Parts: sequence; structure tokens; C-alpha cells
Amino acid sequence: MDKLAIVVPCYNEEEVLKIASKALRGVLADLVQKGKVAEDSFILFVNDGSKDRTWELIEEENRTYPAQVHGVKLAGNVGHQFALTAGLLTAKDMSDVTISIDADLQDDVSVIEEMIDKFHEGNDIVYGVRKERKTDTFFKRTTAQGFYKLMDMMGVKTVYNHADFRLMSKRAVEEFSKYKETNLFLRGMMPLIGYRTEKVFYDRKERVAGESKYPLKKMLALAFNGISSFSVKPISLILGVGMFIIFAAVLAAIYAFVSYFTGHVVPGWTSMILSIWFLGGLQLLAIGLVGQYIGKIYIEVKQRPRYNIEKVI
Ligand code: UDP
Ligand code: MG
Repeated sequence: MDKLAIVVPCYNEEEVLKIASKALRGVLADLVQKGKVAEDSFILFVNDGSKDRTWELIEEENRTYPAQVHGVKLAGNVGHQFALTAGLLTAKDMSDVTISIDADLQDDVSVIEEMIDKFHEGNDIVYGVRKERKTDTFFKRTTAQGFYKLMDMMGVKTVYNHADFRLMSKRAVEEFSKYKETNLFLRGMMPLIGYRTEKVFYDRKERVAGESKYPLKKMLALAFNGISSFSVKPISLILGVGMFIIFAAVLAAIYAFVSYFTGHVVPGWTSMILSIWFLGGLQLLAIGLVGQYIGKIYIEVKQRPRYNIEKVI
């Protein structure tokens, strides 16, 4: 029987911790009773340097339910993506399969069973995907969807409307642990792992209590990180613009010479115009070219695994 670890990153979640613990313990008990996961499956709360009583509450839960509730205390606040990674890498050595979920129960815990079923059908990663975003504000919804579109344009593979509610088999987490990069954007990294994947769909609810720990500033930072960690397309864009300007410079040159020979120009204009266009284009082209090398260096220093062999027969 597979041992399940539910990983829950928590930052200042004192209002929801007990509610989350109760709900998730309920899910675990149900899964154990149905014989879908091992009896010693557990919840792993990761305290991400909370300033409130979150850690005390985790300790309390652990004392009351020592078998079901475990905790990891990070020494300081490192942000959701790192906290989740810390949780996953800790859980990997204690379990056969992990599910990551936010503490605020916005993600529907009732699809966890479906995730486990899909895992038993042979999927290594099961993505939780939001059906609609009815409960999000108009602003959050449009910015988030714009972000997914932008990621797509930049050639970054992500699962549309999937946040970090996700099942991962032990071997998937093991492969993930080979990605040593520090600029984490988990949603972009998961599709690189490979293996068979599936999706489950759910309606995203309101936060049970407390308020969002992802203000606009953190959201923008995550978005920029997502693009800059996976795509060197912005550099190619510069190169493209440089080439276009050089092409336009040729047209400008023709125009300048025609004007010159038809005598409609003041002295010095022709040479000035030609210099501006050609030098401008040349500079952009050079920056773009240097950028291509920097882009390659960037990809090299990440030292990502180049492939993941699933089987040899
Ligand atoms: N979180 C965290 N560290 C942070 C910020 C958030 O561990 O610095 C956790 C938070 O406790 C929650 C999850 O990340 O479990 C998602 O945060 P939140 O629900 O506030 O984001 P939203 O759903 O509003 O995007
Ligand atoms: Mg939330």
C-alpha cells in the first residue's frame, strides 16, 4: 500500500491551520478506510517563518495526532515556492506519493481521492486544475489568465489554470530534486520531468479564513520569475528588432540618397540620417547577439537534467 504525504506550506495561517488539519485528517482517514493509501500516511505542515502562532499550532496538532500530523519549521520566511520544495523533498524520503495543497483550503480536498485513483492508474503527476475562477476577483482572474497566455507566448510549457495543488509520485519528486536551480517556478518545472500525467478538475473556493499571502507584488515577482527562469525569448526579441532596424536602415538609405540627388536636403542631413539608422540597428543587433550567448550561459549554469530515462528493457 502506498504511503501518502500531504504537504502544506503555511505562512501566517493561524486562523486556518486547525481547520485545514481537521479537513485533511478527514480525507486521510477516508482514504485509509477505503484501502487506497497506507495507514501511516500523514500531513506535513511546513511553517514558512510565520510571525504568528502557526508553528505552535502545528506542534499542538502533532502532539494530539502524532501519527497523522508532522511539521517542518523553516528558519525564516523563504516564500511559497521554496517552502513547498522543502516540504516535498522532506516528504519524499518518508512516503511513496505526495500531494501539495495550500493551507487555506481554496483547493478542493474532495478531489484528492480522484488524484490517488489516477496515481494508481499509473500517472506520476496529477495536476489539480481550476474549472472556473468564480470566487477570484475580476482583477486576479484577468491578471492570472493574462499571465498564462504570456507564458505560452514565451514558449514556457505550463498547465493552464493549475497552481500548486498537485500529486507527485516518489520518483517524480526524486527527478524534481535533480533540478538545482534557485529561481524556482514549480509549475514550469513539473512538465519538464516527463512521465505520464493527468488532470483533475475542481472549483476553487474562497479562503476559509485569513487573507491572501500573495499580494500583487509577490504575484508579479512570481510571474517575472516564471518567464525569466524558463525563456530566453526576450533576448531573441532584441536580436529580431535589431535585424528589423538594419533592414529599415537600407530603406532609409535609399530614401536619403534619393533626397540627396534630387537636391531637397540641407548639407549634412544625409550622412547624419544614415549614421543614426545604421548605428542604431547595429547596436541592437550586437546587444542581441551578445544576449544569445548570455542566454546559453544561463541555460548551462542551471545544470538541469538533460533527460529522464523511465525504463530500459
Ligand atoms: N505561503 C507561504 N509562504 C509565503 C506566502 C504564502 O508558505 O511567503 C503559503 C500560504 O500559507 C498558503 C499558500 O502559500 O498556504 C498560498 O498562499 P495564498 O493562499 O495566500 O495565495 P493565493 O491563494 O491568494 O494566491
Ligand atoms: Mg489561497
